[in-house]
Amino acid sequence: MVSQTRVIVQESLDALLEDKTFLPELTNKTREQAFTSLGAILSTPNHVNKAFLRIPLEDGKVVRIPAFRVQHNNTLGPYKGGIRFHESVNEEEVVNLASLMTLKCALHEVPFGGGKGGVVLDPRTISIKELHSVCKKYVQYFSDILGPDKDIPAPDVGSGEREMDWMMAEYKSIRPGQPYRGSFTGKSVVNGGSLGRREATGKGVYFTFRYMLYDFMKEQKNLLAKTDNLFAKTALAHENKPLTMAVQGFGNVGSVAALEAYHCTHMQNKIVAVSDRNVTLYNSDGLDIPTLVKFTAQNRGDLPSTDELLANAGVKAEILDRSDVLYLDVDCIMLAALEDQIHKDNMDKIKASIIVEGANAPVTSEADAYLNANGAIIIPDILANAGGVIVSYFEWLQGRETQFYSEEEVYKLLYDKMQSTMSTILPTYFSDPFSLRQNCYIQSVMKLSTILYRQGKLY
Ligand code: GLU
Repeated sequence: MVSQTRVIVQESLDALLEDKTFLPELTNKTREQAFTSLGAILSTPNHVNKAFLRIPLEDGKVVRIPAFRVQHNNTLGPYKGGIRFHESVNEEEVVNLASLMTLKCALHEVPFGGGKGGVVLDPRTISIKELHSVCKKYVQYFSDILGPDKDIPAPDVGSGEREMDWMMAEYKSIRPGQPYRGSFTGKSVVNGGSLGRREATGKGVYFTFRYMLYDFMKEQKNLLAKTDNLFAKTALAHENKPLTMAVQGFGNVGSVAALEAYHCTHMQNKIVAVSDRNVTLYNSDGLDIPTLVKFTAQNRGDLPSTDELLANAGVKAEILDRSDVLYLDVDCIMLAALEDQIHKDNMDKIKASIIVEGANAPVTSEADAYLNANGAIIIPDILANAGGVIVSYFEWLQGRETQFYSEEEVYKLLYDKMQSTMSTILPTYFSDPFSLRQNCYIQSVMKLSTILYRQGKLY
């Protein structure tokens, strides 16, 4: 588990242990024991599955590629979580990410557990044929533990619709005659995927930010004016002022969130910087996000990284170093790249007062404590980036019913679900001493603990 995740889960349990109104059935004698069991259950994955995929390359060589499927916890339903294709994937990371999925699903009341997969591979370095073979082999190696009611993978960093389509097809051929549509989510729409799934994470990230800083603030202005809460102060300070934003990562999450921000008529956003693995693009008057999205779609996902490419794209921007995106003098940074981006060595360089976690675990625990203590508000991953798994749930349901929703219906369901979570979290957040992340964790841990207790798993 990400050390930060483990620490906050433990802090949440400590707070709940003290709160005698939570599970009052547990008497003093059994209470401590039950909470010790909870700590053990929630901080340990149920299964860590590992394989070395045997992949014949087109040049005749054969390589063995390490691959993982971690099943963290299935208290709420089948394990659920993406498969990451990245050269830096490792077991500890996949375990961490799987535990975040358990908490994320619990927080938003999605009836799934937490899982995650990983393949140690930069998919850009192999041919399409070889990638197809990696996807098929992954399913062959793990087919016994996967399935619509067991463990349902989805896209993550480095994977998308194409990979999910291939994997579902392989699953279907390994298990002929059995239900297969719900075995993978994030598939293409023609192959049984859901409208809106591709955009869901990015849209959900921006919706969470907008709801907290704008809609909720408008509704609850009186409440906010009375409290000393950091978020309330930040929201009020930004009222009626254009918000400057920098977006780290311009993939499936960052580009969609940036586009939403660009088009949002409620709030006056100005996206002054976006970055990818090569560059940061900066324009203090605001960047032309739709043109950049078009450019990346035609250039393997890369932003224009030279003056010549910028001129060809018709975008006015200054080219900065890729890491500069984090240190600009902006109101908000959206982190939509990888984990551990803000850490003890760069946390004091962050100027933004609002940090939105579109990626999973992009802020380390030291940086989280430091930024909170210095007046930043962090909208945490399990709250902000759950749009993907929420729409994956709708995709799974649609596959079962073989009845499909319109794009409009999907977004309405998505926003209703995210708003309902925030309506539970926010009022408590104003009246207790915990950070927003701690609040979200406490909610998740409460749900998981109650169910584990009712299922008799705490003795
Ligand atoms: N990989 C995404 C996440 O981290 C989506 C998971 C899913 O749809 O199952 O939330």
